[in-house]
Amino acid sequence: MLDNGVDFEAQKELLIQHIREKGVRDERVLEAIRRVPRHLMVPEEYRWHAYIDHALPIGEGQTISQPSLVATMTELLALQGNERVLEIGTGSGYQAAILTLLCRELITIERYPRLALRAYQVLTALHFPPFVLVMGDGTQGFPPLAPYDRIIVTAGAGRVPPPLLEQLSPNEGRLLLPLGSRTQQVLTLIIKRGERLLTRTYGECVFVPLIGKYGWSPEEAL
Ligand code: SAM
Repeated sequence: MLDNGVDFEAQKELLIQHIREKGVRDERVLEAIRRVPRHLMVPEEYRWHAYIDHALPIGEGQTISQPSLVATMTELLALQGNERVLEIGTGSGYQAAILTLLCRELITIERYPRLALRAYQVLTALHFPPFVLVMGDGTQGFPPLAPYDRIIVTAGAGRVPPPLLEQLSPNEGRLLLPLGSRTQQVLTLIIKRGERLLTRTYGECVFVPLIGKYGWSPEEAL
């Protein structure tokens, strides 16, 4: 279907093909990407770039992540559909929209109220499954609904926030976060098996900083 002369659906299919070529194999993840209209989740002036594999500005100095990275991170969560998932960094709501299609319960936290409200309005208007939106500091997790089967952090951390490890299910819970310096991180997956923590890494990435009590200070993040 054309939107102002632009065939967003065709562009999206090319993007999905590109994501497949980058190694994402989980068909459920690819189908979720297909169902989310990224062009309606970015500021109007970037709509025409929505299906290029790039991060884009969303206001407040923040970004909507690169689609192939969103797909890779979603695949690494290994969702079966019955999980309670905590996302730190709602941003545009793009990753959140994908997660609502793949898990049982989503709780997402954003520190900028304006971004949080916009994401909530967009996802509700587009009839995505219900989710819990929390405005605040996600480095502290969200104790009232812990434990979480999966925790995904979509901002760059200098260290693993201890509350997130505490709130992770000991029954093969997965915590995925970009871990490293202020300017460059490594995609890191921590699996909690009882008292044991297994760590795996998946290559370099660049995210805006995770700011909060157990993240960077606002001054460090400048
Ligand atoms: N998942 C988002 C999406 O799909 O658009 C991308 C998020 S953007 C790369 C990172 C987000 O994390 C920003 O919106 C930023 O405000 C948020 N953030 C940073 N530190 C945070 C914290 N301590 N708690 C909650 N959100 C935080």
